[in-house]
Amino acid sequence: MALRLVTTGLRTIDTRRLKPMAKKADGHYQTPEHKQWRASVIERAGGRCEALTIDGKRCRKAAPDHRMFADHKVEIKDGGAPFDLDNGQCLCGQHHSLKTAQARAARR
Ligand SMILES: [Zn+2]
Repeated sequence: MALRLVTTGLRTIDTRRLKPMAKKADGHYQTPEHKQWRASVIERAGGRCEALTIDGKRCRKAAPDHRMFADHKVEIKDGGAPFDLDNGQCLCGQHHSLKTAQARAARR
């Protein structure tokens, strides 16, 4: 199911000749399924970042003052379920960047 959606996105984007690195992500993030998942993840969190700071307190950033990101706890490229709410968390830009960098480092 998930793989088929990504493949469909790739084909669509190939005809538009977008940058090669953007293909897979764009295909996925444009699907109605992803938009619904993203909205649900952020809504469930009340629009607040779900990251915990070092002293165990929840990050205070929240929409609409801050842009919120629906993050895959286990990234799709690492085998995470793309549309499972349990694999989603709402993060502010700072924590989303941090998390993405950590996942990238762990992959090396
Ligand atoms: Zn945060």
